[in-house]
Amino acid sequence: MKSPYRQDFPALSRQIDGQVISYLDNAATTLKPRTVIRAVTQYYENNGANIHRGKHRLSEEASDAYENARTTIARYIGAAANEVVLLRNTTEALNLVAGGLELEQGARIVGTLDAHHSQILPWRRAGQLELTRTDARGRLDREHFRQLLRTRPQVVVLTHCSNVTGVIHPVEELIAEVRAAGDATIVLDSAQYLPHGRVNVHALGADFMAFSMHKMLGPSGVGCLFGRSELLAGLRPANLGGGMVDWVDLAGSVDRRVPYRFEAGTPDIASVIGSAAAIDYLDGLDARHWHEHAGHLCSALVGGALEASGVRLIGPPDVRDRTALVSLRLDEGVPTGDVARMLSDSYGIMVRSGHMCSQPLVTELAGDQILRVAAYLYNDVAEIENFYAALSELLSWMAPRTRTGAA
Ligand code: PMP
Repeated sequence: MKSPYRQDFPALSRQIDGQVISYLDNAATTLKPRTVIRAVTQYYENNGANIHRGKHRLSEEASDAYENARTTIARYIGAAANEVVLLRNTTEALNLVAGGLELEQGARIVGTLDAHHSQILPWRRAGQLELTRTDARGRLDREHFRQLLRTRPQVVVLTHCSNVTGVIHPVEELIAEVRAAGDATIVLDSAQYLPHGRVNVHALGADFMAFSMHKMLGPSGVGCLFGRSELLAGLRPANLGGGMVDWVDLAGSVDRRVPYRFEAGTPDIASVIGSAAAIDYLDGLDARHWHEHAGHLCSALVGGALEASGVRLIGPPDVRDRTALVSLRLDEGVPTGDVARMLSDSYGIMVRSGHMCSQPLVTELAGDQILRVAAYLYNDVAEIENFYAALSELLSWMAPRTRTGAA
């Protein structure tokens, strides 16, 4: 049965060489529903003015829509509007925190092996980063995590959900362990979790939480950083300039209040306004139906991976505590990128190949590049079955050729 949500996504009515497309690259970014596209185009068609500066009608309308969007996003995660900084993406949000906290020289920072490069690189620059090991299936080694907490880190940065294994970590428990072990600042990368599950960020207890609207039906160009008010107040802004100051004279300047002092320059106004439409769409879903639907997608993905020949599932074989995402290691010598291209060009199926910007984990678990299949609410089980059938067909003629070294 087709997903009831599919009709809301105009890109899915596209065909490639006469084939209806299957978009299974949702962990990279999701497609946009008509309501989001409409919100973006309406801003450009009816307004198009800058925010926060003008006193004229168009600027005031644009500013209101922008600030209403901030409130909508904040409410979705149980935060106040002034606790949400609007940036470009999760990467920018994590960089802002890593570069903006007052850390000691060589500060100890604890992360997890399944961290995205957007965590590893900024935190490695900020201090001495150590990553918690995982088991062979990508589940955190909790004893190693506890050991690392005993080194008294100043920051603990947690991946809420891995973009390689789809594993959702028990962040409530991890946060409780961090709090019991010391006074580290806790930074949560929820880029892969929030598209699939709701949080109340205060109940969760993280100090900072980063996520990207483009991975949850919103337009590209909007990343959000939640920060507890007292911590945001002490964070150094990454960018200085217009929009983040109240006053400038020849001797100095006075910053605007939080969150504006982290938002220098003209933002992506249309995309922020479109983000509110994305949240409205997610909010309007029947949560129970969506959850059940996601469960079916997840079972089909994991079940297919366990049955398929010529592939190995990277990540746990169970379907609990994970999102509808699987990563697959293809048999030695089968060029993953070529498979992804042929799936697209011959079958209309879009999946991702490579290291997924999580190279340390992918190298550890797979030793080489992987193929990632990530479903979302507009996908259906038949598409996943078609994917495995297409993969099997491709591998049946590619594998023997690559094994004998033929081109
Ligand atoms: N963290 C995780 C877990 C991700 O999956 C991604 C995107 N693949 C990012 C961070 C970076 O997100 P963005 O590209 O929107 O900055």
